[in-house]
Amino acid sequence: MTVKNKVIVITGASSGIGEASAKLLAQHGAKVVLGARREARLQAIVKDIEAAGGTAAYQVTDVTKQADVDGLVKLAQTKFGGLDVIFNNAGIMPSSPISALHTDEWDAMVDINLKGVLHGVAAVMPIFTTQKHGQIITTSSVAGIKSFAGAGVYGATKFAVRNLMEVIRMESAQEGTNIRTASLYPAAINTELLHTITDKETKQGMDAFYKQVGISPEAVANVVNFAVDQPEDVNVNEFTIYPTKQA
Ligand code: NDP
Repeated sequence: MTVKNKVIVITGASSGIGEASAKLLAQHGAKVVLGARREARLQAIVKDIEAAGGTAAYQVTDVTKQADVDGLVKLAQTKFGGLDVIFNNAGIMPSSPISALHTDEWDAMVDINLKGVLHGVAAVMPIFTTQKHGQIITTSSVAGIKSFAGAGVYGATKFAVRNLMEVIRMESAQEGTNIRTASLYPAAINTELLHTITDKETKQGMDAFYKQVGISPEAVANVVNFAVDQPEDVNVNEFTIYPTKQA
């Protein structure tokens, strides 16, 4: 089974990497189920996908709430008759130096970037374990494989989800449940992510950097499509995606 006809839940699907992935996967025949908080955006994206001949549905979802993520997965099952893949992609990056003590933003990053992924895992694990098939793809970051000054807590959440994906892969191999996992480590991708930075100095620096080197979210969507397209006994589990201009 390739991408065609797979049922794929995508969080953080209202813009950027999630939106690009939803559109590309639908173009390749997947049935995509989009979750995020901004309903008007989700509605418009689903309309675009359907206008292009694809199949999609959406549900307003806040990944900090287990019940919301469970509901999104349930929608996939009821509307499209099953679930093959979850793409845990929702995330925020309000980066700042630790010494600035933006502790509310630390909490928000843990709640969305880490606990949001755990909610996705908890929602699909019973389904994937029972059907002995399934794929969990998570957007980590290059900040999940190396440290960046100014991205201490963001990086902590992204290192954490990387570990989570690898452990799920290993345990599934031991338990014989055929659950595949993949972590994506994108570098500078031009999306709305920098809007979440409130620290003025950090924002200025990142805006300038992204303007110089950033690439489009379709670059990541292509990798997601590749991962989903692999044969069921093949787990391609780690991808870095760099702009050629980024050192
Ligand atoms: P965007 O800001 O364009 O997309 C972020 C998505 O996450 C939006 O759809 C947003 O939707 C959603 N989101 C945020 N909070 C929540 C929440 N509580 N519940 C549900 N959805 C939520 O940025 P990107 O596309 O760049 O970000 C996608 C992922 O890629 C993130 O995990 C980010 O950390 C990661 N990443 C991005 C890089 C980049 O350079 N852009 C580099 C490395 C990793 P809404 O506001 O409607 O809820």
